[in-house]
Amino acid sequence: MNVSDSQRIESKLSDLDYKPASEKEAGLVIINACSVRQHAVDRIWGHFKKWADQDKKQILVTGCVIKKDRSVFRGKNVAFFDIKDLNNLDKVLAGFTHKEDEKFEYFSIMPKLSGKIAYIPIMTGCNNFCSYCAVPYTRGREVSRPIEEILTEARAVLESGYKEILLLGQNVNSYEYDFAKLLIAIDMIPGDFKFNFMSSNPHDMTDNIVKTFGKLKKWPNELHIAMQSGDDEILKKMNRKYNSEEFFSLIKKIKEQVPDVKLSTDIIVGFPGETKELFLNTLNICKKISFYKAYIFKYSPRLGTVSAKMSDDVSDEEKKRRFEELDQLINKR
Ligand code: SF4
Repeated sequence: MNVSDSQRIESKLSDLDYKPASEKEAGLVIINACSVRQHAVDRIWGHFKKWADQDKKQILVTGCVIKKDRSVFRGKNVAFFDIKDLNNLDKVLAGFTHKEDEKFEYFSIMPKLSGKIAYIPIMTGCNNFCSYCAVPYTRGREVSRPIEEILTEARAVLESGYKEILLLGQNVNSYEYDFAKLLIAIDMIPGDFKFNFMSSNPHDMTDNIVKTFGKLKKWPNELHIAMQSGDDEILKKMNRKYNSEEFFSLIKKIKEQVPDVKLSTDIIVGFPGETKELFLNTLNICKKISFYKAYIFKYSPRLGTVSAKMSDDVSDEEKKRRFEELDQLINKR
């Protein structure tokens, strides 16, 4: 999503006659921050301090930055703008402040695409409030784009030669104008292309969506679905709103509809309270499901979230050990 937003920023800057320049020569630097994890904020800060207070540089910070982190990005030539205000970038650059546009009209700016995959945001924000996650605070509540607007963008990127589309959203399958209907509409666009979507949340994966998977012709039968943990106690502490049995039965239903489905997932190891026994439940469900790929994260507290108030009681060494055990099981077979 961050890359996709940057493509729209680039397009808007080009409309305003800005030209790309080297880091040293640039008069304007826009930092489109992704600060979902603490580690990311620390890295952004590393870059930021090179530019702050340089007389010839104007710095704008946008993207997912929680309010608490904003104080870190201070300097006489530094300002914040909300990505939702991208349509008004010229005014922001001239020093005017704006009211955020709640409808996300900046999605109507055609992005300056690059690479092989055309990213198309279909919704943004999240209403789920998983206890470790900053997204509901940085991106706000869920807002979906109308189907017609998405289809127009999809047709345009296909006409320009793209063969691969990735529909984006923090919680893609809770798309409010009927995710199953959108998938079918994309699948029916004529032409030789494939498409996928991410990220899916088990909690919002309805039977109707699962049935639709079996009907799609341009979807490569690859599904990314974030499990996060295979232990009920930890899932509850994470506020994930499903338990391991529900997750497993969802996977069974998906495999019934799409027998050759390739499943990938996200897993957090070392969440507060995850004992060695509880971690074994994650390990065991992974053995039963056979994910082909897992994005594994060692838990780190994110300031401002609920879990940051819990005791981070698994040592770094143990987190690393659990990471490696899962990595070995799933990614390095
Ligand atoms: S569903 Fe995803 S984006 Fe939403 S709060 Fe949970 S982890 Fe964050």
